[in-house]
Amino acid sequence: MNMRIGLGWDSHAFKPGVPLRIGGVAFDHPAGLAGHSDGDVLLHAITDALLGAVAAGDIGTFFPPGDPRWKDADSALFLRTALEEVQNAGFRIANVDTTLVLAAPKIGPVAEKLRERVAELLGISPRAVGIKAKTPEGLDQDDVAVAHAVVLLESLDGQESAAQLTAAAEPQTEESTAQTRMDDVVRKLVGDSNAGPVRKPAFNTDDIT
Ligand code: MG
Repeated sequence: MNMRIGLGWDSHAFKPGVPLRIGGVAFDHPAGLAGHSDGDVLLHAITDALLGAVAAGDIGTFFPPGDPRWKDADSALFLRTALEEVQNAGFRIANVDTTLVLAAPKIGPVAEKLRERVAELLGISPRAVGIKAKTPEGLDQDDVAVAHAVVLLESLDGQESAAQLTAAAEPQTEESTAQTRMDDVVRKLVGDSNAGPVRKPAFNTDDIT
């Protein structure tokens, strides 16, 4: 089965008097997370993980922070856009795992609520969502919330994904075989393993953000 993995990370500073939202859940807390949007650090990390898994860029590609349209935006919108990218690429979420790093508020008592909300936003079972939290021991960053997210995607269509993989691989044509032989000859003549034409990568590096 064709699978993809995606990694996301985000941080936001706490700011007094701002509403606090983490994982699409509102918290009763004296400080919220400052940001152009609603500052939902967890949803931002998951959004980046989803986009990264299908090499679709990152959250800033779709929602530039300077754009007034996204001022105080509900981060669930970012997540929905990333989900569409995942679906358009022919994948669905197998599971999501996350770790929050913050001094307060305590996540443990509301972890189940977060899990259910994130699962609802992603359209998957809560059993496929991990919510963990750590305090930033020794990091001297009690005024910051950090979120890490990793996602695993599986192909919606095994046949199609196999075809995509074949197409993406370097084709072993007569021409490429001849090129390989030529490279070997050049290396022997020059006596330097780094000599010879630069090989074209097997994937499109333009996709990497
Ligand atoms: Mg963010």
